[in-house]
Amino acid sequence: MRLLSASAIIALLCLVNPAEPAQAQPAANHLAVEDANTFQSEVAAARASMMATPNVALSHLTAAEALLAAEPERTDSDTAFATLWWLQSEALTRLGRPLDAEPVAERALARLGDTPEPTKLFADILVSLGRVNKVTGEYGRALENFQRAYEVYRAIGDSRSESIALQSMGSIYTDARQYDRAEHYYIDAARRHSGDASLDLAVNNNLGNVYRELGQYDEALEHFEQARTLAAEMGSGILQARILNNIASLHISFGDFNAAEIAVDEAVSHIDDPAQSEWARFLWGTRARIAYGRGDYRLARNLIARTFDGISLDETTQAFAEFHEAAASIYQALTAWDQAVPHLRAFKRLDDEARDVAASANSTLLGAQFDFAEQELEIEQLHTQGLERDLQLTNARARQRMIGLSALLIVSLLGLLMVQFRHRAAKDRQRVLEKALYEDLDTGLPSRAAAERAIANLAARLDRPATLIALQVERYKQLQSALGFSRSAELRAAMVERIRANFDPEFVALLAPDVIGIVLPLADVDAALPVADRLRHCFTSAVALDALEIDVNVTAGLASGMNGESCVRNAMIALDQAKEAADHKAIFDAELFGDSEQNLTLMSRMLAATHNGDMSMQYQPKLHLPSGSYLAAEALCRWQDREHGMIMPDHFIPLAEETGRIRDFTQWSLEQVVRDQKTLLAAGHDISLAVNISGALISDPEFAELALRTALQAPGRISFEITETAAMQNPERAMANLEKWAAAGIKLAIDDYGSGLSSLAYLKTLPSHELKLDRAFVTHMASSQRDRMLVKSTSDLAHGLGLEMTAEGVESFEALALLKLIGCDWAQGYALSKATSLESLIEFLNANAQPVELPGTPSASHSRGRAG
Ligand code: C2E
Ligand code: CA
Repeated sequence: MRLLSASAIIALLCLVNPAEPAQAQPAANHLAVEDANTFQSEVAAARASMMATPNVALSHLTAAEALLAAEPERTDSDTAFATLWWLQSEALTRLGRPLDAEPVAERALARLGDTPEPTKLFADILVSLGRVNKVTGEYGRALENFQRAYEVYRAIGDSRSESIALQSMGSIYTDARQYDRAEHYYIDAARRHSGDASLDLAVNNNLGNVYRELGQYDEALEHFEQARTLAAEMGSGILQARILNNIASLHISFGDFNAAEIAVDEAVSHIDDPAQSEWARFLWGTRARIAYGRGDYRLARNLIARTFDGISLDETTQAFAEFHEAAASIYQALTAWDQAVPHLRAFKRLDDEARDVAASANSTLLGAQFDFAEQELEIEQLHTQGLERDLQLTNARARQRMIGLSALLIVSLLGLLMVQFRHRAAKDRQRVLEKALYEDLDTGLPSRAAAERAIANLAARLDRPATLIALQVERYKQLQSALGFSRSAELRAAMVERIRANFDPEFVALLAPDVIGIVLPLADVDAALPVADRLRHCFTSAVALDALEIDVNVTAGLASGMNGESCVRNAMIALDQAKEAADHKAIFDAELFGDSEQNLTLMSRMLAATHNGDMSMQYQPKLHLPSGSYLAAEALCRWQDREHGMIMPDHFIPLAEETGRIRDFTQWSLEQVVRDQKTLLAAGHDISLAVNISGALISDPEFAELALRTALQAPGRISFEITETAAMQNPERAMANLEKWAAAGIKLAIDDYGSGLSSLAYLKTLPSHELKLDRAFVTHMASSQRDRMLVKSTSDLAHGLGLEMTAEGVESFEALALLKLIGCDWAQGYALSKATSLESLIEFLNANAQPVELPGTPSASHSRGRAG
């Protein structure tokens, strides 16, 4: 459940609650009651206490409910119950119990019948429900409810409530960090109704925050100042203080610490007793940020300590995010790591939550914006053209509901958000987050990622492999449960201390909770064996933690290499190999890891197959949708083994990667593709051929060189398909190779996009040209609205980043037609052709020399070539 919103705006919106039922509507509006004095008085009492003491409101409502139940004969009982439940849900929401509030609001709505009259009560319930939906992360439903409420308010001419509904919609866009859109809603809200101080104040404050996020300092200041004037007119000291704090924060983010200080001083003057006020801690936090900005770290530390005084750092809300960030920076500046770490962790927790909210809100908004109408129309046309009879579009006209999240959308939207993220603090955040990545947050020791980086750097500096010893604490689980969480963190820190004292190693990191990694500048892993022995020996005496003496035994796994990531992985595998051999140390054994003899045989048979003709390349044509022509094909290997029959690549490619045979294999496949391209060209087909390059290879500089030389011998265009996860794994080295290839004119495609977990923001930095969307999203797009939405949004995002998009796994003509409509660039899949031998490909291309006519053009026809 997400109870946190992405910005402080919401906090203010709640404070000046636009949908405040006590103000929004007198009781008589909803109830045509003449006689039920007691019921009515309980309801009135509930309304009066709603804002300040919702728990009191709730008890009045319980009393009202009992009175109502005793009067079954009432003529207006539907309205009475709906009002009662609506107010109950409001009270529950205010008490921070949105999950309890939701069914109560639903019940209120249901009580108004299937097709409720457009009344204010109906719309007010929708707004309440929308706000519950929003806090529970159901953004789609929230938006829908606000929209419906807005329509009702319009119909009954209630402009004040219209304005509230518009602001609520704006707040969803704020959560989604779509500030441009949020701005429109807020401005619209202001236009719809003005002259109401509390509403105007909320709008101005919201706009101030939006402009701040957009980096528009002057506009932000102007709106905050207006909000502040309104707060002064309303005579609210606390509101003035809050807005002044926003103003101070604005000045800080633009580096004007003097102006910030003036604003905070004034804010303090509006708080009656700052020493007693719970809220004043935010002002100390702002003062701390000012002191930090001025380089006065000691003062900053005192102030930030006051901000968090008596607060559990693990349970703070979004309102504290920027103060955690400030605290982490302050303590880092003072090298007080122990104090920086918990703030870093808290900041990361809140930042993750905010991103999650943004991603969730975004997926919904995209869904809502995606207009299917045009597509449904086109599909109807397909029907009438008789292209396909069995087309079933379920829910075609059903209203769009909340669309489930998928990993793909989260990451791609986050990617987009990152790209759009123009917040001036972005750099600072990145620094802080990077730190979180390279540091184990429990112990403050360097993390596994830091070890990988250190190995790669060391190897690059020495220009030869580095060695890693992974030291695993035996029976760690038992130790941890005996010692507890923080004690076992201390134990690990003490172990590292001892290692550092005895060895002065290049680098020490925590590879896993129970594994310490020691990086050595030794190229020869055998030479590290004596070091491993000495390391083990150094733990023969107990480790002292205060009064405790703890016996630890360790096992060592050794590996060496240039690549940090595989070095770490191999050293970890070596630990298992040591255990299997009932030993206390082992050097990584690739052959052993490839495991059984069977696998080894398979691998040598695979390489043999590339020489004896059992291995061949097949080709799956790719249709270029704008031109309707087959302008490319993907090379896919096929192994017809004499003994075992057909062995599919999914079976042996991963094994080849693990056992290091992939390099020779890929070199062969590339050479084969170059040979086949010559044959194709001779047959009159100048098409681009795509070769799959395993991720394990892209950070290998020797392979990069070899592949480049081979590809340059091709008579036509060659492209490389690279899996996104692989591309992510070893960024620096991979990037250098990819850039080399791209510079030589080899186009690069990101393969199987959506099956891994990479951010599009990162992908954007790769010199790629094409995004291949994983077939999981494409195959069912004709029947799944959600999949259509995903394909469409990914296509838009790809285009936004200047990439062409290919849809894999096109198995039906409906999917093909939809892809064309969506604006996808390339299609590949069984509906067009399976992968087929070179000869069959030539036949296929001959038969499909004329452009394929796709929907949108009359009398579509296509020769389906399933040669494979
Ligand atoms: P991939 O790169 O994602 O290749 C696409 C896979 O989807 C191919 O499976 C292809 O036959 C299959 N496919 C194409 N259209 C459809 C469709 O409409 N529906 C369905 N259900 N499947 C479709 P294949 O040939 O079995 O290859 C599997 C994977 O093996 C490839 O996935 C690729 O990662 C790897 N691979 C294949 N050949 C090579 C190679 O020469 N070198 C390397 N390194 N990897 C290869
Ligand atoms: Ca591929």
